[in-house]
Parts: sequence; structure tokens; C-alpha cells
Amino acid sequence: MQTQKEFDTKRLAECLISFFKLMPNENQINRFVVEIAKQTLKKLEAGRGVEISTKDIFLEMFPNGDESQASSKLANLWKKLPALYENISIRLAEHAVNEFELDAYARPEKLESEGGAGNSVRYRLNAIKVNKELIAEPNPYREKIPHDIEYRAVQDFQPSIFAKLFFGKANEAVGIKKWVMIFTPIIQSVFYLFMVVVLFYALKKQTIATISFFYLSLFLAAIWLLSYQVIRFQRFTEDRIIIASEYFMSWKEFSLLQEIVTVEDENGNFLYKKIQLTKYVGVCPICNSRVELAKGEPDFPRRIIGRCYESPTEHIYSFDRITKLGYALRNYKLEAKSGS
Ligand SMILES: [Zn+2]
Repeated sequence: MQTQKEFDTKRLAECLISFFKLMPNENQINRFVVEIAKQTLKKLEAGRGVEISTKDIFLEMFPNGDESQASSKLANLWKKLPALYENISIRLAEHAVNEFELDAYARPEKLESEGGAGNSVRYRLNAIKVNKELIAEPNPYREKIPHDIEYRAVQDFQPSIFAKLFFGKANEAVGIKKWVMIFTPIIQSVFYLFMVVVLFYALKKQTIATISFFYLSLFLAAIWLLSYQVIRFQRFTEDRIIIASEYFMSWKEFSLLQEIVTVEDENGNFLYKKIQLTKYVGVCPICNSRVELAKGEPDFPRRIIGRCYESPTEHIYSFDRITKLGYALRNYKLEAKSGS
């Protein structure tokens, strides 16, 4: 029979695994935490306690790795744990409370037996109590609207250095910065328009025989840049959400959104608008991989859609910024979820 303590550890481990499906699995630190949770489940199943050895984790994470380096490799990963938890603790707490009805979330702890030799290090999941009053409610639309996927905002994304300087820690632009963001595309457009006009007159003087291909390509480039700017500006102001400019994303990142958000007081009165960088992710109901947002083109022009990491052209879902819900855009017959 399971003891109460073991039952909790099992739920805590399952919650952790489910939460990390929303996170990039190419990060070793993420895989390390998931591996501890998976090994914990295995041990519980076999009735062999809840402590995981360095070797258990290492062999799963690096099947062809050199075992003599196990302790140092895991020790290095361990150093990244505080930063990871600083990033995820709020969302993980929400996940534990809202999706698993727990009042705690799991965080690995390290047990070093006397002597401190590498091989005697063991890991265990520790329960961190959650203050439920600080936890956001679950998505209110989830019960009302049938859906295939639910997206969640994440904080641990990778803005570019430029975006970090411009938006600051909160990843948002208010006041003067907001207007800079709105007017920069207009100023750029005016500049490109000027180029188009100047080059048009330069080209007009030439005949087919003397035409400069240099001017001609500049002219076409200027037209392309101008229309790109105008379309982006129009979409941002009309749709209020677009995939963020490449200048704001680091090279590994491709699915940040630039969103106009209305800030209200607690009575629902309008206070101000701000521009925010956000990232939403979901879990693919077909293959369980991570779903990130991307442009809908070419099949779904002007839409932002969710694309599965494993099958980005087939496992695709709609995205609604208000409900944070979506349905399958290909004809997969998925059983609609309402609630979980
Ligand atoms: Zn998928």
C-alpha cells in the first residue's frame, strides 16, 4: 500500500513532467529535472524509495557518456537549478494548483552523504509549499469553449540584447517607449518612400539600353521594404498582435509576440495601453511535443498559429489571444476537450 507521502511524491513528479512539456527539451538543465522526476516515478513503482543516484540520471541523459565524468557533469547542471527555478517557480506553482490540485510543487534537492565523494550524491524531489492566494485562476474560457489546445504565457524566453535594453526586465514598453515603437515603423516607411521616389526619377531618365541594374535592384528593394513596413504597421495596429520584430529576438528564438495590452484597474476602468513582448506555448494533443506560435503563411495568411515542434506543417492549431485556446487546423478528429 502506498503511504500518503509516496502518493504526494508521485503527483509532484507527474506535475513536474507535465509542466516541462511546455519547456524546450533541448536544454540540458530541463532534461535533468525531468529525468529526476521520471526516475522518482520508476523507483516508487518498484518500491525502492525516492532517492535517485547520479548514475541513474547520467545513464539516461547521456547513454554513451563517459561514466567517470558523471558527477562533474551533473554538478555543473546542478549550478543552473536556482536560475531555472527563479524563472519557472510562479508558473510551476500555478500548474501544480490549477492542473494537479496540489498545494506544493516539486524541486530537486541534493543529498550529500558524508565524505562528499561524487558517487555518494543522491537527488530527491522536495515539496515546496504554494501560497494559493498568489496563484492566478485557471483560464476561464477553458470550460466554455471546446478546444484542442490551451496556450500558456511563459516568461523564460530569449529576447535579444537590444530588446532587453529597450523593454527592460518586465518586457514591456509604456509611455515614451511605446510611442517610439509605434513611430519607428512610420519613420522607416517615410525613409523607404523617399528612396522609392528618388530612385524612380533616376530610373525614369534611363532607357532600357542604359538602365542601371544597381538602381533597379535598389528600387525594388525599397518597394519591398516599404510594403513590408506598411503591412506590419497596419497589422499591429489592427490585429494588436504580431510576431515580434527580428531585432527583438535572440538567434535561438523565433516565436515571440509583440502585443498591445490594455491595462485596467480592479474595477475594469481603462488605465493605459502598453506594448508587451510575450511568448505562448502549448502541448501538441497529437504527439505531445511543444507547440509555439508562428506566422500562418502561406496556408493561413495574416494569422498567428501554433506549430508543433515535431510536425510544424501538419500539427497546427489556431490561436486566439483572448481565450488562449485553439483548435486543430488540419482535419484531425481530435476529441474536443472541455475542461481537464
Ligand atoms: Zn505534434
